[in-house]
Amino acid sequence: MSEFLKELEKKISEIVPPEALVSKVSLHASEVVLYTKNIGLFLESEALVKTLATKLKKRVHVRSDASLLKPPEEAKEVIKKIIPEDAGVEAINFDPEFHEVIIEAKKPGLVIGKGGTTLKAITLETGWYPRILRVPTAPSPVMSGIRYNLLKNSKERLKFLKKTSERIYRQNPKKAEWVRLTPLGGAREVGRSCFLLETPESKILIDCGVNVASRDNAYPFLDSINFSLDQLDAVIISHAHLDHSGFLPYLYKYGYTGPTYCTEPTRDVMVLLMLDYIDVLMKEGRDPPYGQKDIKKMVLHTITKDYGEVTDITPDMRLTLHNAGHILGSASVHLHIGQGVHNLLYTADFKFGYTKLFDTIYTKYPRIETLIMESTYGGAKDIQPPRYISDKKLIQTIHETCSNGGSVLIPVFAIGRAQEIMLVIEEYARRSGWDIPVYIDGMTKEASAIHTAYPEFLRRNVRKRILHNNSPFESDIFIEVDKTQREEISEEKGSVFLSPSGMMSGGPSVEYFKAMCENPKNTLIFVGYQGEGSLGRRIQNLANRNSNDRTIPMVIDGKTVGMNVKMRIETIEGYSGHSDRKQLLEFYRRLTPKPERVILVHGEEKKCTDLARTLAYSQRVETTAPRNLDSLRLK
Ligand SMILES: [Zn+2]
Ligand SMILES: [Zn+2]
Repeated sequence: MSEFLKELEKKISEIVPPEALVSKVSLHASEVVLYTKNIGLFLESEALVKTLATKLKKRVHVRSDASLLKPPEEAKEVIKKIIPEDAGVEAINFDPEFHEVIIEAKKPGLVIGKGGTTLKAITLETGWYPRILRVPTAPSPVMSGIRYNLLKNSKERLKFLKKTSERIYRQNPKKAEWVRLTPLGGAREVGRSCFLLETPESKILIDCGVNVASRDNAYPFLDSINFSLDQLDAVIISHAHLDHSGFLPYLYKYGYTGPTYCTEPTRDVMVLLMLDYIDVLMKEGRDPPYGQKDIKKMVLHTITKDYGEVTDITPDMRLTLHNAGHILGSASVHLHIGQGVHNLLYTADFKFGYTKLFDTIYTKYPRIETLIMESTYGGAKDIQPPRYISDKKLIQTIHETCSNGGSVLIPVFAIGRAQEIMLVIEEYARRSGWDIPVYIDGMTKEASAIHTAYPEFLRRNVRKRILHNNSPFESDIFIEVDKTQREEISEEKGSVFLSPSGMMSGGPSVEYFKAMCENPKNTLIFVGYQGEGSLGRRIQNLANRNSNDRTIPMVIDGKTVGMNVKMRIETIEGYSGHSDRKQLLEFYRRLTPKPERVILVHGEEKKCTDLARTLAYSQRVETTAPRNLDSLRLK
């Protein structure tokens, strides 16, 4: 047993009364798990658990000693009787390694009961501690797969958590005399975001992305680090977009066995995106950098954290994630280094502004010396229209097209943008009694389902509706389609088709386009950024061209055909999950406290340097826009 654990046991025995009958103390990563033969005492006295948490400065979980656990079959019957029927329980599984029963339900609130009464009754009567998971309103194979695998491999998972705690609380750590940051990707560019943060004691990576649009510069400069992967303490993933998470399974493929920290929805959504990424590469006849096996390994090593939860991740680094308002589960990363030697905030991709899905980015911190900030729209001209104008234009364009006997195609990114557009259309339909069918295709279906499993990560209105079984994503106007139906429904008049990919680089949006583009009554609406060289950008350019030649070469049944694009083409701005230039500056003004130094990343070169100059000039703060591999000494 480690010295740290011995010490911890001693402290606990001084706090709890002898009748608490603590039989074992264990550490799972940074959290304390205490096993007791008198679970009733802890259930009655919440104050005791609170005192433990405050005095130990750790999260504390209390579980029944193995001798109190009823045999699973027997316990299952008891649990079924305790939980009210309308809770919609879909699965009850026992995890003997963790002394937990995992209950998947449609209405977790009813499983918990008022003030947790139902939960307590389950523990008292069966010994098992219930962990409640919300079932998404529509099936998500990715979520079921993750939950199944974690349960199946819980022995390995427990071993990993214990090993992680030994690393976090290792003996005689060195003093944090210096702190160094090295961008390994995502500096003066968008894509492959990855930062190495080091102190004399610790080494961590913040984000580990790929640039899916690039063949030569797709991966971060991991080969430049001068230590082996088993010396890496932790990886933190800010959000699920592949430019922040897409290279992570590669680390596990090549020997990393440490933890990855992120929010729970980030874990699920990144798996969805990674599986799609390797699928697309294989269809293009290219070798993916990792396989499904490595993604599974990653999931087993992922430790999820809620917003605001403070966690020790190395002997001298303490992590807190906060809402970034960008996509489901997206977080800003705050690190408290060396007992207050240095505090770093990495905003990651963020929205300082109104969206229907998420609250705006969190801005109140105890301390910040270094701020790392995104600059996607950091250029002087990167101003977006206010949302109400974008919404009005969107609805108006759909109306005009549909009442004219045409249909609308909106290519969307499956995560975030798609759900935001769905909410705009749903709200309008609900208020006006409008009943234009909106066909939802591709990965958007599963992505929306995952949103409904995590209502607490959504803006209040949407959260409330999901909790009251009135999820906007389940509205009658949305009709899910699969690939066998595409050809038939694309002929339909007066409909909206919402489908990925957003830049029309493959996916159902391209198929709908082929079927719809030659009819002048139809409209194509772009609601997102179209990357250089993408089909979306080429179509967008057609609309700006003066000549009458609107031909675009497309591959149909293996042959290249010149398609004559007659459909109307519109671009509606204002739906970005990123802050525009004004919002970036406004975020900085609102941020407390002010940092000593700002590091600008995640933007084309000119955007990063432009924003660095503006902030330095207007806010009188030291700014820098480093290049990849420029090490910065922060302390
Ligand atoms: Zn992003
Ligand atoms: Zn990004």
